[in-house]
Amino acid sequence: MLSILVYRSRLSRPLAQDELSNLVDKAAKRNQENGVSGILLFDGEHFFQYIEGPDKALKATYEHIRSDPLHHHVVTLLSDYAPSARFSNWAMQLIDARDHSSSIVEPISAGLTTPLPSHDRALKLIKAFASGRWKDHTTDFVTQNWQFETRASGFETLAEPINSILPCQFALQPIVDPLRYTISSVEALIRSATGGPPYTCFENLPAAEHHLFDLESKRNALELASRLNIGDCKLSINLLPMSLVSIPNAVDQLLANIEKFGLTPQQVIVEVTEEEAISHFDHFELALKKLRSVGISVAIDDFGAGFAGLSLLAKFQPEKLKIDRLLVTDIHQDGPKQAIVKAIVECCKSLGITTIAEGIETPEEWLWLQAAGVELFQGFLFAKPLINGIPAVSWPILTK
Ligand code: C2E
Ligand code: MN
Ligand code: MN
Repeated sequence: MLSILVYRSRLSRPLAQDELSNLVDKAAKRNQENGVSGILLFDGEHFFQYIEGPDKALKATYEHIRSDPLHHHVVTLLSDYAPSARFSNWAMQLIDARDHSSSIVEPISAGLTTPLPSHDRALKLIKAFASGRWKDHTTDFVTQNWQFETRASGFETLAEPINSILPCQFALQPIVDPLRYTISSVEALIRSATGGPPYTCFENLPAAEHHLFDLESKRNALELASRLNIGDCKLSINLLPMSLVSIPNAVDQLLANIEKFGLTPQQVIVEVTEEEAISHFDHFELALKKLRSVGISVAIDDFGAGFAGLSLLAKFQPEKLKIDRLLVTDIHQDGPKQAIVKAIVECCKSLGITTIAEGIETPEEWLWLQAAGVELFQGFLFAKPLINGIPAVSWPILTK
């Protein structure tokens, strides 16, 4: 099967014309040996390359490019299959795209061994690069300028365990504004009595009891937040929408516990996953009304992992939207994820919704998302969840 790949990268240092020609000659030779063909557009600062060939050879070629220190910010724009080679006559053709004119499309079309339909995505990407308009959609970041420094959270620690009839406890993970060095909220993640992950808390319970347990467990989360003296910090709790709907007076019960532990409804955020919100929209809508009427705000969790997407936002606008880890992982290298997240961020800005990126594990992911306008961040890069406590946070420090 023939694979095709399109990427964009940035030159890491200035390159003289003859050096560039040399590199292209070398690449052309290597490509010819491996049965790889393609085109390389260069606008003086960025490369844009279309390559095609047998799957294995193409992967090896791309790995080679990604490990080349000459290429910075390598972003995959398209990775797909095609019925036949399009540029089999060209091992590697360099095309000057400096004048951003659409005239460069002509020599490309002339080099095609099979004509491409005008809706061909690779061709559309080539045209977009040639026009220079794609630059409006990129974000730039420099990781070398940042160091991370761990600072204690400053919150209290739990002197003695929470006395509860429920066999559960909570781990807390900060959601941070890394450039302001502030913890916006802490998310309470349920753990079993022995510290096991969320599903172990529910697996031994009959299904009919899940919702009651889910709701009642929040008492422990609220008590924990209160005992750690979270002050003005907010507390995010996870709840199934049904936990708020199927139990009579669920919101009143939640409210009573919020007050009992000296917290305010304005401090509490209820996180509901996109999946649950859409599959039980009637229940969700009812739960929402109740939460809103008492001043508790709502976050859509795992946005982008479900199937509702933007249509959910057309029906309902939460205070906060958490972009799922699926979209966050390696975003700095992934063109489709970048385009999707940009659209989500822009949409949330127009609607007054705060965006949070979940599952940030690397400085690259954070910096890309920060530059793209995401406001708050959660992930192992900043802090891992800590059972019965608020962990120290690793804050980014600008060194240059
Ligand atoms: P979630 O609400 O999306 O919570 C984030 C999950 O991602 C947590 O897993 C957290 O430990 C993990 N995480 C955070 N940062 C990173 C990171 O940088 N990398 C990776 N790989 N993972 C990260 P956890 O605690 O296992 O929770 C899983 C899910 O269980 C939660 O996802 C939430 O949907 C659900 N859950 C947790 N507590 C409750 C609860 O009290 N009630 C209900 N109904 N569901 C809960
Ligand atoms: Mn959550
Ligand atoms: Mn999530």
